[in-house]
Amino acid sequence: MIIITQPGVSRDSPVFSELTEYLAALPGISTSLHEVHGTEQTVTEIYLIGNTAALEVEDIQSLPGVEQVVRVQQAYRVLGRHLDDRRPTHFDYNGVRFGQDTLHIFAGLCAVDTREHVEAMMRALQGHGLQCTRMGAYKPRTNPYSFQGHGRACLRYVFELAGKYGVRVVAMEVTHESHVDEIREALEQTGNPTGVMLQIGTRNTQNFELLKHVGRQRDFPVLLKRGFGITLEESLNAAEYLASEGNRRVVFGLRGMKSSLGDPHRNFVDFGHVPVVKRLTRMPVCIDPSHSVGSRDRAPDGLLDVFHVTAQGIIAGANMILVDFHPQPARALVDGPQALHMSELPYFVEDVRIAREAYLKRSELAASYAVPSG
Ligand code: PEP
Ligand code: MN
Repeated sequence: MIIITQPGVSRDSPVFSELTEYLAALPGISTSLHEVHGTEQTVTEIYLIGNTAALEVEDIQSLPGVEQVVRVQQAYRVLGRHLDDRRPTHFDYNGVRFGQDTLHIFAGLCAVDTREHVEAMMRALQGHGLQCTRMGAYKPRTNPYSFQGHGRACLRYVFELAGKYGVRVVAMEVTHESHVDEIREALEQTGNPTGVMLQIGTRNTQNFELLKHVGRQRDFPVLLKRGFGITLEESLNAAEYLASEGNRRVVFGLRGMKSSLGDPHRNFVDFGHVPVVKRLTRMPVCIDPSHSVGSRDRAPDGLLDVFHVTAQGIIAGANMILVDFHPQPARALVDGPQALHMSELPYFVEDVRIAREAYLKRSELAASYAVPSG
């Protein structure tokens, strides 16, 4: 059971003490506190652990200082959606809102290679009014002899260039906890010109020690990608690891499943799960059409498969798109064959807009119909 306090009830107020004293006297129940900072207000969530089945929601609801009481189902205690749960489905970071009803395009380089390519990318983003990008510095590679990313060496110029072109959030994968410190340090050294969303890739979805470390820091939000060979439930539990350590600013990323049944796509596209994740949890959902499809193959209607699956994810309500672009794909050090070309950026943005409009119309239509009972 979760108790959410009324805004303005601070931890040192008499009302709060009265409430916690009452809870402390309940047999077989222990509590843990968590402060949730929104842009306008801070509230405290009190987690009741133990024999909560014996408690009546109405009794707890009538206690002083209580705004809301949520009876938690077993799954995804923090990030899940529970009965009568009115907790938010969004968070704000560096002036950008990420929620279950927003949409952001993170077009960028799979891997940072040269400063010139980073600058060309950032300039193009600004030219098309985009505020977010992806930039891989630490690359988890299947082959130990493949390019592993420039790591720390490229961070400063990536952040400076992001700031120069008005990019507010850079999604960047981390594969080790030391990378978080390196990113924080480089941001400080450059005067925090941009923000970073830490990405945990599909190979690390169940790296629990990394999850705990990234979950304990609150500076950066996290994009957690679904594990490519585990169940959705297992991946959502991995997201819950981040939240249970304190970081609730988590976006869940769909990037396809590893299975030869998806051939000729690189991974079996799983964007049908966008609404499922939104129903089960309060996380915004990201799709990664580049790593799902893995090629520039084109359908007979003239649309690239990458465009097709992007639209499929958006029309199902996706909130974020991670997509590979490159100024010179033939010279990219990682994933050049799946990258979109810079000249395709305005076309991509327009195609996304069309799909989003269709989604918004679909949800309006759904809202105009009464929900049938049963
Ligand atoms: C990536 O986004 O660069 C990446 C490696 O993705 P994934 O973890 O989904 O393979
Ligand atoms: Mn890649």
